[in-house]
Amino acid sequence: MQDVTDAVSARSGPGRPPAELLRRLRARHACDPVTHVERVPARAGEPAPWPAWAPEELRAAFARRGVVAPWRHQAEAAELAYAGQHVVVATGTASGKSLAYQLPALATLLADPRATVLYLAPTKALAADQLRAVADLQLDGVRPACYDGDTPRAERKWIRQHSRFVLTNPDMLHHGILPGHAQWSGFLRRLAYVVVDECHTYRGVFGSHVAHVLRRLRRQCAKYGRTPGQALAGSHSTPGQVLAGSHSTPGFVLASATSGDPAAAAGRLTGLPVAAVTEDTSPRGGVTFALWEPPLLPSDTSATSASAADLAPVRRSALRETADLLADSVVEGVRTLAFVRSRRGAEVVAANARRALDEAVPGLGARVAAYRAGYLREERRELERALLHGDLLGLASTNALELGVDLVGLDAVLICGWPGTRASLWQQAGRAGRSGDEALAVLVARDDPLDTYLVHHPEALFGRPVEATVLDPANPYVLAPQLACAAFEAPLTPADLELFGEGAKEAVDSLVEAGALRQRPTGWYWRHRERPEVDLRGEDGAPVCVVEASTGRLLGTVDGGSSHFLLHPGAVYLHQGVSYVVDSLDLADGCALVHAEEPDWSTHARDVTSLSVVSVRSYVDAGPVGLFLGEVDVTSQVVSYQRRRIATGEVIDTRPLDLPVRELRTVAVWFTLSPESLALAGVEPADVPGALHAAEHAAIGLLPLMATCDRWDIGGLSTAVHPDTEAPTVFVYDGHPGGAGFAERAYGTAAAWLGATRDAIAECGCESGCPSCVQSPKCGNGNNPLSKPDAVRVLDVVLANLAAATGPRGERGTALPRQDNRSSERSVTEGRAAETA
Ligand SMILES: [Zn+2]
Ligand SMILES: [Zn+2]
Repeated sequence: MQDVTDAVSARSGPGRPPAELLRRLRARHACDPVTHVERVPARAGEPAPWPAWAPEELRAAFARRGVVAPWRHQAEAAELAYAGQHVVVATGTASGKSLAYQLPALATLLADPRATVLYLAPTKALAADQLRAVADLQLDGVRPACYDGDTPRAERKWIRQHSRFVLTNPDMLHHGILPGHAQWSGFLRRLAYVVVDECHTYRGVFGSHVAHVLRRLRRQCAKYGRTPGQALAGSHSTPGQVLAGSHSTPGFVLASATSGDPAAAAGRLTGLPVAAVTEDTSPRGGVTFALWEPPLLPSDTSATSASAADLAPVRRSALRETADLLADSVVEGVRTLAFVRSRRGAEVVAANARRALDEAVPGLGARVAAYRAGYLREERRELERALLHGDLLGLASTNALELGVDLVGLDAVLICGWPGTRASLWQQAGRAGRSGDEALAVLVARDDPLDTYLVHHPEALFGRPVEATVLDPANPYVLAPQLACAAFEAPLTPADLELFGEGAKEAVDSLVEAGALRQRPTGWYWRHRERPEVDLRGEDGAPVCVVEASTGRLLGTVDGGSSHFLLHPGAVYLHQGVSYVVDSLDLADGCALVHAEEPDWSTHARDVTSLSVVSVRSYVDAGPVGLFLGEVDVTSQVVSYQRRRIATGEVIDTRPLDLPVRELRTVAVWFTLSPESLALAGVEPADVPGALHAAEHAAIGLLPLMATCDRWDIGGLSTAVHPDTEAPTVFVYDGHPGGAGFAERAYGTAAAWLGATRDAIAECGCESGCPSCVQSPKCGNGNNPLSKPDAVRVLDVVLANLAAATGPRGERGTALPRQDNRSSERSVTEGRAAETA
């Protein structure tokens, strides 16, 4: 590979080396907004020899596609899979994860003319993409085929009988293939590999359902000739032994975005021991990555008054900052792509940049555009071409995935706000940099505690990943319906309960009690003629349909739990980047009527919440501090919503709503402190509610650092005295019935999670709390009371005592002496602050 320094200096044209461009962008600011510059060096790829077992025919096929040798991580993963280990490849975007599973899967299909492979993708588009890739290899007798909802009936039988590489999705496996397993018996009996692509998308409740769909698949494989639950490791070394009659589970090969502990996540998903390959050895261009924190605005009287702290913008908005950076880059003549989370936001960025450019040089504004999801494919490709050729210099877009594959090699990428995961961050940054050239990427922090933390903790972005994909297969709200599906497919036996894991026996008992299963000497039988109706996206109330009133067109569905927040009358609802306003929400009919409209504001629903502890699963006794994981009942009601200007964040007004109360039994993590320890730390009794409330907000904001989740997945509540704990308490709970693994992950990583929370608050430069640290956009109490300095004291007490705690942890089911289970006290007491954030 060409030396990077040479490449940059030798470069002609209007672009500039990234360091020089960054210096110019920074020079425009009185105080430096850059908190960190990371130079991610270019990396030459590390090729490895083809595995000895890879047949010549396959090597030649890959060579025709331009692959002369695998990268080392591809070869390592392929070797593990071929040797019989379940394996997950968790490497960066575009690192060639496909080859890692295609190699062992296709080699096996070529070696054994009867073997079959099942490939699962989260989307039909990805499956179609993979189908093309496999078909292009033109291997005799493989006959790859997609089998999904779009597959014509006439072709389905042929695929079941003749295809040896079937590409589908978890929904089709759940609704179509497993219930009709008899028709698939031949395919399942000879199944050598199951490929689970993009497995990090199977998280939360959906992931927990998919985990059981995979267990149901293993069970059917066992029934037709295999025994599930047996590790393959070391049991064979040739493909022939993997196949029919060897009584082992098919080999699982999973591909994941980079994440914390991918082996554990893949193990939970499959229920099998999984080895991980995480070192990326593919080549990449160098990137200069700057972390950019918009400056604080000069404080005025309204912004410093604590009672008026209701989201007065304290920092310059990330949208404005991004627009300025885009304009400045265009002035410098560099081709720049800005990623903004919403379509409206992208348009604000493009419009502001155009205005600024036209003021500087009349006519220059015309070289910036917004990339609209609503545009036709042809129009979008035309915008991309204009940017590639330099006719356009700046483009503001919503999502890296909507862009054409050819749109790479730009000079600079601006990322407005943390895109949620490291995978998305690198997907966006990856649009910059021609081969051999260095590019500039800038992450502009939004006013959000997680963004604040990340721009001050570059190790969280560039070091080892900590965010993990979490799911909870033991969730009874997932387990019971999945066991019903399994029983419909074949009566359940005691051995099956082991396969479905923790909580399976209790779930079966509950199904018997409910009359869904009948127990006989030979097992548990499904009692009905029809099969159970189970939605993999969860049982969180019936989904609500979003319908365009004027046309009757169905735009999409929203799960019942989120519908109160997203589809209340007056809500601005975004669908594929297009904005709609909700006219009415009919919960009885499960339908929301909307019309297309792009107002200048966004809407933010607020709710009031109360919570009672049902049971404690596990706890840490840390002297004056207690840390708990357990079941809770949460009662919440969305009561109002705020309208806020998109460009500035300014609150326009707050409007009341009339929606019913929602009840939720779920899993929560909570910590308690003794009033004495708070007094000793200098927290005045009157400031305790504000201290806990501020700590709760920031803790919710930082949980996505530990577990991939979004705001809808978690909620919180804090109180100076909770009736069930009889102490100052902060709760953070899973927003889905039965829990989805987020609270559990928070409990397991409490020291790191709360440590990051403390740092995010302490490192924010504001005086008395702002949206970048302790204010929450969804607070049910209008961000009042909040005490920023006392929140740091609270977390210091918690962290010091957790670090000193040496006592044993309580185990699941432990009762606490002072834990008054199932308290009937539910009223919202004074000083209790609550919201779902
Ligand atoms: Zn702040
Ligand atoms: Zn709050």
